[in-house]
Amino acid sequence: MTHAIHDFTAKLRQPSVAPNLEAYVRWQKKRRAGEEGLEPPEIAPTSINLDLTTACNYRCDHCIDWDILNTKHRLIEKDLRASIALMAERGLKSVILIGGGEPTLYPGFSDFVGFLKDLELQVAVVTNGSRGDRLLEITPRLDERDWIRLSLDSGSNELFAAMHKPTSGKVTLDSICEWIPRMKEANPKPKVGFSFIIVWQGASREENALHENIHEIVPAAERAREYRFDYISFKPVLERQEDGAEVMDPTKTAAETAAVVKRVREEVDRAKELGTDVFQVYESTNLRMLEQDTWKDYTNQPKTCHMQALRQVLTPLGLYNCPAHRGVQKARLGEKDAYADGGRARTTGDALTGLLDNFDASHECREVTCLYNKVNWWIEEMIEDSREGAAVEVGAESYDYFL
Ligand code: SF4
Repeated sequence: MTHAIHDFTAKLRQPSVAPNLEAYVRWQKKRRAGEEGLEPPEIAPTSINLDLTTACNYRCDHCIDWDILNTKHRLIEKDLRASIALMAERGLKSVILIGGGEPTLYPGFSDFVGFLKDLELQVAVVTNGSRGDRLLEITPRLDERDWIRLSLDSGSNELFAAMHKPTSGKVTLDSICEWIPRMKEANPKPKVGFSFIIVWQGASREENALHENIHEIVPAAERAREYRFDYISFKPVLERQEDGAEVMDPTKTAAETAAVVKRVREEVDRAKELGTDVFQVYESTNLRMLEQDTWKDYTNQPKTCHMQALRQVLTPLGLYNCPAHRGVQKARLGEKDAYADGGRARTTGDALTGLLDNFDASHECREVTCLYNKVNWWIEEMIEDSREGAAVEVGAESYDYFL
């Protein structure tokens, strides 16, 4: 069964989102029918991942963005605001502040979140939690559909320090968690999550061995509940392959996989017993795929990845087609100001057309366990549907626009 947060088809069928998808599908149908000289529709992605900064104050040994951290690239606030405003006019509904660095280190972070909320966008923050003061500052601006997720991956101060290597000795797992009750007092509405990426011996980031944390799954869940997080989520570690794609490839540790998965299952099941009415314990789709050995089903992508038009990644290095390929040249859609005005958005539309035609997802993403696999095939079928007037079947508005 698909979790509601991963039911991307239902999200794209919402009445407020479907018109952009409809415009995209009609355009693609006409192109495949051989019409020439068509301009791409003036639509913005429904959802973006926005990397506000490449700066980070940790040195995590499992970081998948290692190569772009602490580089000199910067966003220019004026262009960034203009880009977001233009995208919001054209159908952008949600922004996930994430990746490539620690978003709370961006100067003016709180003001910028306020700007997004003034545009009535849904906002999510994926953070290392070290700047609890800044998270507390934005909390009053958020509502029940917004969320903050802290990447903590451990249950003890010792393992936390070994895994994340904060550059300041003052940052501990305790000091981070102590901010959560204060945030809940300030505004209980946004969901605050404790993210735990499961790491085991044999999983590697290039040559670096990683710290195993399976034994801290249960202590982490206890801690998350005690400190009033709304949930804890468990997810297996991802790796980057040579061409930059982010993948989960358990065949690398084939001999150990079954035993590791069994241990993980036992610990996650124990953690689940800690769930209450106000505290949930989630396991990721990736974890179930690993366990049921179905991850390969998610690697069979259509040639054209349609999600490139509906969700993009804006970073200080430029605009990319997918989080799994952030920072990779062949996945690049434009500069960091790619939506800063109508002219630049047109150029970006042309670049998108090029990638839709030339970025062969069936090859480039053949190792990626892509959660967008089903929605991509669904859009592909709509485009190939030759019935007269075939259109997107509009569904219910669930007010969840994160893709
Ligand atoms: S097929 Fe999946 S992994 Fe590949 S670009 Fe599209 S969404 Fe990203």
